[in-house]
Amino acid sequence: MANGDKRDYYEILGVHKNASETEIKKAFRKLAIQHHPDKNQGDKEAEEKFKEATEAYEVLSDAQKRAQYDQFGHAGVSGAGGFSGGGFGGGFGAGSPFGDIFGDIFGDIFGGGNGRRSQGRRGDDLLYNMEISFEEAAFGCEKKIEVPYAKRCSTCNGSGAKPGTDPKICPTCRGAGQVRYQQGFFSVSKTCGQCNGEGKVVDDPCPDCRGKGSIKDTKTLSVKVPGGVETGSRLKLTSEGGQGVKGGPNGDLYVAISVKEHPLFQREDDNVICEIPISFAQAALGCEIEVPTLDGKVSMKIPDGTQSGKIYRLRGKGIPSLQGYGRGDQLVVVKVETPTNLNKKQKELLEEFAKISGEEAHPMKKGFLDKVMDFLS
Ligand SMILES: [Zn+2]
Ligand SMILES: [Zn+2]
Repeated sequence: MANGDKRDYYEILGVHKNASETEIKKAFRKLAIQHHPDKNQGDKEAEEKFKEATEAYEVLSDAQKRAQYDQFGHAGVSGAGGFSGGGFGGGFGAGSPFGDIFGDIFGDIFGGGNGRRSQGRRGDDLLYNMEISFEEAAFGCEKKIEVPYAKRCSTCNGSGAKPGTDPKICPTCRGAGQVRYQQGFFSVSKTCGQCNGEGKVVDDPCPDCRGKGSIKDTKTLSVKVPGGVETGSRLKLTSEGGQGVKGGPNGDLYVAISVKEHPLFQREDDNVICEIPISFAQAALGCEIEVPTLDGKVSMKIPDGTQSGKIYRLRGKGIPSLQGYGRGDQLVVVKVETPTNLNKKQKELLEEFAKISGEEAHPMKKGFLDKVMDFLS
């Protein structure tokens, strides 16, 4: 490497001359993730940028080398480090400046884990949409659901190999499941492409599972839905989701609740709302009506002179609280129905009634008319 045409280390990392250790580390992490050879396979430019950044970081992260570089430029550090020869092949030992952030970077690239990818992967989380009735939501229920899962193939006992044959050690990784290769200054470990990290390959695949070792199947699960759930509630069934890969844990199963509409009841928090139509005569004279509730019919007294829209509360007849204590109320909304399709006799009676009904029978109307008069005068 000729020192003359080398870029400035600070410029490479995009930091100021007086950048802190943390800033330098941060800048390098960003570049390393961006240009990492594993993410840019076959991209020469990315590889060059990665090498450049690595070299800059190797110097600027070491206080002594950084001081020399600040004073003498590239000449001050060339030959002092290990990168003028063949890089540092053997991975990253304790003394390496990369030791501490090696894990971070690989964690970012490979989405967590310990950076070596050979460990099992957690199974997928599954979502199951469950529709239940209004009453089931109120009081809880137990439902059986069918969920998919990967069943161990009984023909090959999970090995994936045709009965009578055995899987053999993968020739590419010699059973390790990982292959290492040299990329720039990094020795990179990656999942073996031939065996997908299994360490074994199957020459004669099992005819029933096509070499996978498992067969898609469904299992029946019993789900206990607690009373008080509503549309949008989610239940979590730990470890009942997708099967983990290579010994990884299973994912979780989520059951999303949606509650069917009820022909009589509506819900507002833990209260049940129910509209009851009564006749004009019932409202005027008072009556006793039967009201449906979640617990069956209840008899209710409607006093004379009840106006339309009046709400009566039946305490404790609502939805049980999801937290397990108490219940909401039922709100009975009275709707006074204006009579329609009147016959001659009915009309005559009503006209008669109107003639003999003065202001005292309609205080609301009188109050309103008084206000109108005030307003217009
Ligand atoms: Zn099989
Ligand atoms: Zn392999």
